Amino acid sequence: MPREATIREVGLRDGLQSIARVLPTAQKMAWIRAAHAAGQREIEVGSFVPARLLPQLADTAELVTFAKTLPGLFVSVLVPNLKGAERAIDSGADLMIVPLSASHAHSLANLRRTPDEVVQEVARIRAARDAAGSNMILEGGVGTAFGCTLQGEVEEGEVLRLMQALLDAGADRVSLADTVGYADPARVQRLFSKARALAGDRLWCGHFHDTRGLGLANVYAALQTGVTRFDACLAGIGGCPHAPGASGNVSTEDLAYMLRSMGIATGVDIAQLLALRQQVAGWLDGETLHGTLWKAGLPKTLTCVQPRGERVLS
Ligand SMILES: [Zn+2]
Repeated sequence: MPREATIREVGLRDGLQSIARVLPTAQKMAWIRAAHAAGQREIEVGSFVPARLLPQLADTAELVTFAKTLPGLFVSVLVPNLKGAERAIDSGADLMIVPLSASHAHSLANLRRTPDEVVQEVARIRAARDAAGSNMILEGGVGTAFGCTLQGEVEEGEVLRLMQALLDAGADRVSLADTVGYADPARVQRLFSKARALAGDRLWCGHFHDTRGLGLANVYAALQTGVTRFDACLAGIGGCPHAPGASGNVSTEDLAYMLRSMGIATGVDIAQLLALRQQVAGWLDGETLHGTLWKAGLPKTLTCVQPRGERVLS
C-alpha cells in the first residue's frame, strides 16, 4: 500500500454539471477557498464547454484565475475539444483533461465522435499546447472503461488500445474512469494492473462513481496496483443522466476518511471537509447528496488532522 495519496476534487465539475441549478461564482470560490484551507491541493474547477450546453460551468475561466491565487493549488479543467483546449491554455490552468469514451456508442452519443476521432483531437490539442509554449499537463481520461449503459460490455483490450493511442498522440498522462458505476474491485485490479504495466507512472488517476455502492472498494483495488490519485466529489454529488437517482462520484470526505484510517496521508483535514460539506449542502438545498461519514462523524480513535509534511505530491 502507498503511504500517500492525492484526492482530486471534481465536485465543481463532475458534480455540478449534473445538477440543474447554477451555483453562483462567489459560492464556488468560497468552496475552492475552503477546500484549499482543508488541505486539498488538486481541484478540477470546471469545464471549457459552450455555456449554452452547460450554463452551470460558464464561469470556469474566472474560477481558474481565482484558484491560481491560492498557494500550491494545482488547478485542472476538463476540455471536450480543441476549442475548449485553446481556452484552457489561455486560462492558465495547470492541467487539462480530455475525456474519451472507450464505449463507441457512448462516445457517439456524448461527444459525437468515435473514440479514435477523439484521439486525433488530442493530437491537435497537443500541437496547439506546444505551439503556445505552454507547459500545461495534458491528461487523456478513458471513460466508460468498465462498460456503459448504451453499449453494455466494453472490452479490456479496447480500453488499453485507446490508452496507448492517447499516449502516442501526445497525452502526458492517462486515467481510467468508471463513468456509470459498472466496475467491481476484481475488474479494477485487473484493468489497472494492465494499464499500469502499459503506462507506468503516466497512469495518473482513478475515477470511480459510487452508482452501485462499490466506489470505495474500487479505490481500494486500484490502490493495490500502485495508483495514488483519485477523483472525488464533496458530498458525492453528481450522477448519471441514464440512471435517475444514481449517486455520483466517490464522496471526498468518505474517501479521505478511508485513506486516513488506513494510514495513507492525504494532507486533508477531515473535520474541515465535513464543515465544508455542510455549507455546500446548504447551497444545494433540495438536491440529493450522498456519502456516509457525515452522518456519524469521525471515530474517537482518529484525529482529523494530518501533518502537511507527510503529504507528497507525486
Ligand atoms: Zn465522472
